[in-house]
Amino acid sequence: MSLRLEKYSLGVGDRFARQAQAQLRACMLAAEQGVEVVPVWNKSNREHLIIGSEPAETRKAAERAVDAMGWRQSYRVDADHVGLETVGRFIPHADFYTIDVADWIGKPAEAHVLKRFVGRHPELTGRMSIPGVERLLHNTPADLKRIAAKYLLAVQQAGKIYRHIAREKGADQFITEVSLDETDTPQTPPELLVILAALADEVIPAQTIAPKFTGRFNKGVDYVGDVAQFEREFNDDLAIIDFAVRQYGLPASLKLSVHSGSDKFSLYASMRRGLAQFNAGLHLKTAGTTWLEEVIGLAEADGPGLALAKDIYCGALAHLDELCAPYGSVIDIDRRRLPWTETVQRWTSQQFVSTLRHDPNNPLYNPHLRQLLHVGYKIAAQMGKRYLEALEAHESSVARNVTTNLFERHIKPLFVNGTEPTLTARDEKRMAGMAASR
Ligand SMILES: [Zn+2]
Repeated sequence: MSLRLEKYSLGVGDRFARQAQAQLRACMLAAEQGVEVVPVWNKSNREHLIIGSEPAETRKAAERAVDAMGWRQSYRVDADHVGLETVGRFIPHADFYTIDVADWIGKPAEAHVLKRFVGRHPELTGRMSIPGVERLLHNTPADLKRIAAKYLLAVQQAGKIYRHIAREKGADQFITEVSLDETDTPQTPPELLVILAALADEVIPAQTIAPKFTGRFNKGVDYVGDVAQFEREFNDDLAIIDFAVRQYGLPASLKLSVHSGSDKFSLYASMRRGLAQFNAGLHLKTAGTTWLEEVIGLAEADGPGLALAKDIYCGALAHLDELCAPYGSVIDIDRRRLPWTETVQRWTSQQFVSTLRHDPNNPLYNPHLRQLLHVGYKIAAQMGKRYLEALEAHESSVARNVTTNLFERHIKPLFVNGTEPTLTARDEKRMAGMAASR
């Protein structure tokens, strides 16, 4: 394997392929702080279909930005969420493949495959003490069989897709991610261990794995769920990856990938502590948060920019069902909280920006409007030239928002301030206990 993914990487979605420079600028700001965060331009087949764009454009935009900015570190182009049917057109352009096998979860593998797997992995039953996992893991043979039955077919499918890409492109020409996140139930840490053992059996050199975590990871808004439980699972997952890399000979660079990872402000401190504790890397996918900053930048520019931003919202409101349909499991919009067209048309630039920008301390911030606009990029795509020309006309306002959002609200809390966290969650708990007993 010759392509190795760096420790910290940021999935940067760029719906209209106009913000690559502004996104790269955020990674350069991290570099100035002494932290290497590598950009991975990710775009799914779903996004390409909705916008009518081609993977070649993603590659071209990335290359142009890298040249223009003099970026000397590496960068990748991610064929995001692909399967056997959709991967083809990405092959000449992508050097990172997110192999999505969520649809195969729960479909049982053949009996002899299942039997062979269980027979080959006696170490996955009984009491397992994994360094860093707080509780002992304990699988009965029946547990192992149940978990394997749930995931083996999905892993076999990942193997088929991986080998297809390797044949077409050359095994040393790309980075492999396996994603299991677009499904209903989260994967528990013991399940992750079984999945990793199976990935090793399939000889898939995965460098990132995207499980579904507990709680809601809605698009473009904060996490909804139990942060303490998330932190426990996240830490257990990190410990299990560490263990599986040694136990099964998976790539040493294997790390977690967090999908729909933008805007999860209440999780970043937990994640930062875990990464420090395990000296672990992370891939965070941020996709649509950049497109929202484009709209904010337009609205902030006032005049025709603001008018266009309002038209996009009104268009999205009129096509709400159609726009939300492909994103069912990753948005939660309360329609009663969406402002009316007439109301929004009267808003000032500041009102529009305050409502859309993800500033939880601003009383005007409205996560429902924000999620609708997140999935509403089709409206801008349909505007065609009018939208793209507005991006050009208001480039400085748009770029400033794109860079600031990625650097200040994502890279900084996760990677830059995170190089030396002062307290771990356990320390905090211990200190709270000490204070109480005093
Ligand atoms: Zn995903």
